[in-house]
Amino acid sequence: MVVAYKHEPFTDFTVEENRQKMVKALEKVEQDLGKEYPLIIGGERITTEEKIISLNPANKDEVVGYVSKANQALAEKAMQTADETFASWRKSDPKFRADLLFRAAAIIRRRKHEFTAHLVKEGGKPWKEADADTAEAIDFLEYYGRQMLTLKDGIKINSRPIEHNQFHYIPLGVGVVISPWNFLFAIMAGTTAAAMVTGNTVLLKPASATPVIAYKFMEVLEEAGLPAGVINFIPGSGKDVGDYLVDHPRTRFVSFTGSREVGTRIFERAAVVHEGQKWLKRTIIEMGGKDTIVVDREADLELAAQSIVQSAFGFSGQKCSACSRAVIHEDVYEDVKTRVVELTEALTVGDPVDSANYMGPVIDQAAYDKIMGYIDIGKQEGELIAGGEGDDSKGWFIKPTVFADVDSKGRIMQEEIFGPVVGLTKAKDFTEAIEIANNTEYGLTGAVITNNRAHLEQAREDFHVGNLYFNRGCTAAIVGYQPFGGFNMSGTDSKAGGPDYLIHHMQGKTTSEMF
Ligand code: NAP
Repeated sequence: MVVAYKHEPFTDFTVEENRQKMVKALEKVEQDLGKEYPLIIGGERITTEEKIISLNPANKDEVVGYVSKANQALAEKAMQTADETFASWRKSDPKFRADLLFRAAAIIRRRKHEFTAHLVKEGGKPWKEADADTAEAIDFLEYYGRQMLTLKDGIKINSRPIEHNQFHYIPLGVGVVISPWNFLFAIMAGTTAAAMVTGNTVLLKPASATPVIAYKFMEVLEEAGLPAGVINFIPGSGKDVGDYLVDHPRTRFVSFTGSREVGTRIFERAAVVHEGQKWLKRTIIEMGGKDTIVVDREADLELAAQSIVQSAFGFSGQKCSACSRAVIHEDVYEDVKTRVVELTEALTVGDPVDSANYMGPVIDQAAYDKIMGYIDIGKQEGELIAGGEGDDSKGWFIKPTVFADVDSKGRIMQEEIFGPVVGLTKAKDFTEAIEIANNTEYGLTGAVITNNRAHLEQAREDFHVGNLYFNRGCTAAIVGYQPFGGFNMSGTDSKAGGPDYLIHHMQGKTTSEMF
């Protein structure tokens, strides 16, 4: 009997013993910097000439690792391997697959701080954020393992006296899993684990900014007993390898998490039926957000300001759930604005290796340039009241930035910036605030800060987002507690970490026997 699921606790780094463990883990990770990592196809390690260079975003001179880079020929080899392996893997015992995830979770838990320290270096994550990413990776493994056990015997349906009807889920085939760099461990591990535990074989293409953690995850799975060929590790360029695999006639489904631009491209391409293809590809596509916190007149204004600042600037705003707009009732606007600026100016920015820094860098030069570009736009569209400066001399650092009095239709209020920038705007009443909150093309997360119960009920009905939070910030969903996924251009609402997530990776089969 498997014990009930409970989310992985977060580490309290104010406890000296935990601090020391993390310092030691960082020292260990330092020794691993600059190593080379191969591809893994059918269990075979393959080294290529061309490499992806994973850099520490807080220190561009520090190479985290050199990772072999798949091209189309290697992607094809991986596809053939996954396709052949599916013939036997699809019949594997779901319990065997679930146990594999439980063992992998245990291995990661035993080396937790080492993984967390790696995320500090490769992802530029502050300790707390890195710890939460590791915890979430463990949660996905534990949760999806248990979900598979609940699904393995199918769903009860009706039978008449002389017949026996059965309904159960079977795997789909080869899945292409394409992951982003922001939850470099959790989303990569969660999407891969879900595809595998449901009996599919997998081609894992991690984000090019953060491929090393994905290799380390492969090592964990192998240690846990993953048979060769079930998950094939093929880091490579999204455009090159990604397009090739999305188009491939043997691809049965694509599980993607990333930007709206790439997500919609995959959705379109996957819809095309290629020669030799005998199914319609399934797509699980989770994309960006433009997430709003609404502050009502009758609200705890300190809670409102804290929620805005934490949700906007945690991990430098590089979360799909990050608050990038706050809509504040005009009667309390000035008070909230003043407090948001105070809290923002107290935040420290610097190398996340030093746990005193609240915010680390943004991921790379392209992100830095894009965010600084939006800060320039913001200066035209609103009043800059905090931050606004960047420094890319050593790493890619941007100060937490707040714009006031921005028109809700402005570009910085509509487009995903994916950095530490938040815009504030006024609403004349609660109904208008909800209308403004809904006026983007996204629908991922949102929060409402109010003590007015009728307004909470109004928001429950009218605030159109996949994850709606009351009297708290809009980030930090927990696997199995707040299933995560968005509406509209935020994606297919597959609800990662939720009870129906695995079913997207399977198809239902009805068997009816007459006696
Ligand atoms: P991205 O640029 O869209 O990249 C995501 C993945 O897609 C990477 O592995 C990338 O590979 C790959 N890719 C790029 N072009 C491709 C193509 N033509 N075909 C197939 N794959 C391709 O996104 P990102 O910058 O990594 O992540 C940030 C975005 O993810 C934000 O928009 C954020 O909101 C979103 N996000 C959403 C969720 C959610 O649950 N809704 C969660 C986290 C993040 P390369 O790295 O090689 O380009």
